[in-house]
Amino acid sequence: MRLSRYFLPVLKENPSEAQIVSHRLMLRAGMIKQQSAGIYAWLPLGFKVLRKLENIVHEEQIRAGHIPMLMPTLQSADLWRESGRYDGYGEEMLRMQDRHGRDMLYSPTAEEMFTDVFRAHVNSYKDLPLTLYQIQWKFRDEIRPRFGVMRGREFYMKDGYNFDLSKEDALHAYNRHLVSYLRTYERMGLQAIPMRADSGPIGGDYTHEFLVLAETGESEVFYDSEITDLSFGDREIDYDSVEQCQAVLEEFTSRYARTDETHDEALFNQIPEERRRTARGIEVGQIFYFGTQYSDAMNAAVQGPDGKPVQIHMGSHGIGVSRLLGAIIEASHDENGIIWPEGVTPFHVGIVNLKQGDEEADAACEALYDSFTAAGLEPLYDDRKERAGGKFATMDLIGLPWRITVGPRGLKNGVVELTSRRTGESEELPPEQAVEKII
Ligand code: ATP
Ligand code: MG
Ligand code: MG
Ligand code: MG
Repeated sequence: MRLSRYFLPVLKENPSEAQIVSHRLMLRAGMIKQQSAGIYAWLPLGFKVLRKLENIVHEEQIRAGHIPMLMPTLQSADLWRESGRYDGYGEEMLRMQDRHGRDMLYSPTAEEMFTDVFRAHVNSYKDLPLTLYQIQWKFRDEIRPRFGVMRGREFYMKDGYNFDLSKEDALHAYNRHLVSYLRTYERMGLQAIPMRADSGPIGGDYTHEFLVLAETGESEVFYDSEITDLSFGDREIDYDSVEQCQAVLEEFTSRYARTDETHDEALFNQIPEERRRTARGIEVGQIFYFGTQYSDAMNAAVQGPDGKPVQIHMGSHGIGVSRLLGAIIEASHDENGIIWPEGVTPFHVGIVNLKQGDEEADAACEALYDSFTAAGLEPLYDDRKERAGGKFATMDLIGLPWRITVGPRGLKNGVVELTSRRTGESEELPPEQAVEKII
């Protein structure tokens, strides 16, 4: 992409409405624009990162054997009356009526609708296990939308639902989700710690939240510092293996890690004092097992191996895809702007032409641009007639992992400058070598 033809409305001034750094940087980097409280337009740069996160979530869900589909955002209230949640859900649910006076709502989550699809089409134990999921906009009329996309009212969420014949099978699905979530967050350059949590309006008593540690997090968390040494890494896992998934769950949940809702001071105090940590965290996902709560209420049963009907055991599993943009920036930035982890960066490398219009500099930039494109990477070429300082500031703000600076003086010596956004270190080297280092 050439910056002269892109739409990147960066702000020079710090927007006064933003209280935390990720919100401020997303506004300044031209990623989002607020349309009304907690509702955002996703400008091209923000949309690009959102898509990258979404792709990672899809890839990891599909790897775990889960099946993507898509539900409507608007639902009929009738299904929610059937499950018994319509009255209880409260003011976070945005309710409306269509022209015929029928009660509708904008989905805050979708247990009812997935259960409805399931019961309409699945009749036999032979079709199990089954996990269906979607990545779709949700709406919750949050009392205090704030912190930009971190607590929006409209937000983008992956929500998945497992349907199993027994509690045992459903707990395997739970473990499988935990493993796939660990992989997902690590690919985004994040450490998200599974913590014992409270199940809230979804129901059930088996649940973990995934939290990214950050001062600006809204949850208070308590954990054993040893847990931050764990990483899933690039190990191979067979998602069908009950033992393997169980082992990962045990490894990642055996140390104390809880949110304030389930915190137990006596248990916490059993950890050696030097390992006790109290901090703030951002909830980026949650998994639940809730048994037959919905299948009982909505009559979702299949025929078991002995011909008798069996109530389905279910769980649901969410990842806050749009909130993750904020969480990643909270975890990865400096005073000059965002520092994108490689796996989610909107462009792989920025090319800065110090003297636009200079024949040699222009040609060298074009050649670099072509080399990156040919290698399957996406460069962002700042080809505007602007001062170098302004170009650098923009590149630092939008946080691409690499910057290549091209100018007539360097080219006389056959070199360009390669700068790492994370370390700030620069080196001069021939253009071909700079390309080699990045691809
Ligand atoms: P919170 O405690 O932050 O209100 P929640 O527990 O109500 O979140 P879940 O029902 O567990 O949310 O939804 C799954 C995920 O969706 C959450 O882990 C979070 O990452 C994301 N999410 C929930 N509410 C919002 C919101 N208002 N804005 C952005 N993301 C959200
Ligand atoms: Mg909530
Ligand atoms: Mg929560
Ligand atoms: Mg939650």
